[in-house]
Amino acid sequence: MGRLFGTNGVRGVANRELTVELVTRLAASIGAYFGGSVAVGRDGRITSPMFRDAAVCGLLSVGCSVHDTGMLPTPALQHAVRRNGLNAGVMITASHNPPEFNGMKVIAADGVEASRGQEAEIEEIFFGDGPELSPWDGIGTVHQLEALEAYQEAVISHVDIGRVRDARLKVAVDPGNGVAALSAPGIARALAGEVYTVNVDVDGSFPNRVSEPRPDNLGTLQALVRASGADLGVAYDGDGDRSIFVDERGEVHWGDRSFALLAREFILKNPGGRVASPVNSSRALEEVVSGAGGSVVWTRVGSVVVSRRMVEEGIPFGGEENGGIMYGPHLQVRDGSMALALIMEVMAETGKPLSQLFGELPQYSQLKDRISCPEELKEAVLEALRGRVDAPRVETIDGVKLIYDDESWVLFRPSGTEPIFRIYAEAGSPERVEALVEEHKSLIESVVESLK
Ligand code: MG
Repeated sequence: MGRLFGTNGVRGVANRELTVELVTRLAASIGAYFGGSVAVGRDGRITSPMFRDAAVCGLLSVGCSVHDTGMLPTPALQHAVRRNGLNAGVMITASHNPPEFNGMKVIAADGVEASRGQEAEIEEIFFGDGPELSPWDGIGTVHQLEALEAYQEAVISHVDIGRVRDARLKVAVDPGNGVAALSAPGIARALAGEVYTVNVDVDGSFPNRVSEPRPDNLGTLQALVRASGADLGVAYDGDGDRSIFVDERGEVHWGDRSFALLAREFILKNPGGRVASPVNSSRALEEVVSGAGGSVVWTRVGSVVVSRRMVEEGIPFGGEENGGIMYGPHLQVRDGSMALALIMEVMAETGKPLSQLFGELPQYSQLKDRISCPEELKEAVLEALRGRVDAPRVETIDGVKLIYDDESWVLFRPSGTEPIFRIYAEAGSPERVEALVEEHKSLIESVVESLK
């Protein structure tokens, strides 16, 4: 049977891999699986109105009643599904991908992305005989659903609003012309002393920066922070579930830093608590969490896996190294604006500048690399590698992670979307991390060659 779902929903180039026909049939399959009332939202991409209409048609054809939220960030749609007691949600978005892409994220009734098992059942309907269509007089109806205001109120309700406001923080916000523009400035204004914005016109051509916030494309935000004397800057990805922070000096801090900072604060307030994280996160996370008396629950890589684990085991906090923060008391999903509110709360409570808060975290050298490996060899390569590696601690939650006594580690795992193995490594010095990557890169290459 074919596969549609990747690491996070269905993605493809519009009108090439992702067509109106595919979206209609997939939405009908989703509707047939969940039934009842389904929220439909979309991002600001040029092709999103077209695919929204296709999804609505598919859902109506199998008898679902559709609650159309219009444009909004993915976490706002997720919040709307759970708050309104709907059966499911469909978000038309390709997150941070280039403008020619689009996709669908499927949300279950609890507001969290559908589990891998649910995805498989939806695919079974899609690739099988297809969803059963309703009789002509049994098709669904469309309702408008206003979701943004309730979402913004929910986010700020999780922090000490008075305390944060009293700190009169100056915040610079860069939604990158994505749909975070519809909620992030409002959330910032509710909590800050002053708010400055750039790239706040929703524009599906992403004219000003790539929609994935990275240290190399946040120059405008960094300049805005410096010019305005802001206390912090925040940049969002295209659908607003990830955020990256800039300190008062204009320096960008990657997502593993904000994850570690917020996880530590959470454990300090909730002693003995647990934090869920994929195995590729920095060991700074484990250090600060265990230092504060909590523990890390390691999962496979992928935000949906982390979110689902949080739901299953009642883990209240989670995240990813790419800037996805999951705050369970709000919703066990990535939410870029929830992360902003929490960062502002830490700053207000400690009175410390953001550069100092980040500076207090342990610092390690990191390196990522990749090795090509034919799809059909991935399993055999992994199997052979398991027998050939040796380290004081070996984790096989996802790929193989080797943890050494000097607290350095290296992880290699087959990519779920490309014919490659990804290598991640971290160590106390740049020399050690480079040596680790080189050594294991040659090992993997020789194993791939020997199996060809
Ligand atoms: Mg995203």
